[in-house]
Amino acid sequence: MEAGLSGRCLECGEGRLFSRWLTFEPRCLACGADFASFEDAGDGPAVFVIFIVGILIVPIPVLLSLALGWSIWLLRVLRGVIFAQGWAKHAREQQFKNT
Ligand SMILES: [Zn+2]
Repeated sequence: MEAGLSGRCLECGEGRLFSRWLTFEPRCLACGADFASFEDAGDGPAVFVIFIVGILIVPIPVLLSLALGWSIWLLRVLRGVIFAQGWAKHAREQQFKNT
């Protein structure tokens, strides 16, 4: 597992495991281990990537939609408060004019 994480040869730990970003070397340049005849990762890595990225990414739009809902609720509350303050000030001014 450590060799797989480091991208090094599974036999000697010296040679590179990958020739390009996702392409395995056909064989280890250091010890000659044959990777080409064994390579069969299948869809396993893609499934793990989908699960991991899904766990990390899916909550973001959910949190954003919750934030939007809270913003709309808070906007209504603050509009009511500011409107009430204006109403009270106007009522006081009318009261002073009448006295
Ligand atoms: Zn090797």
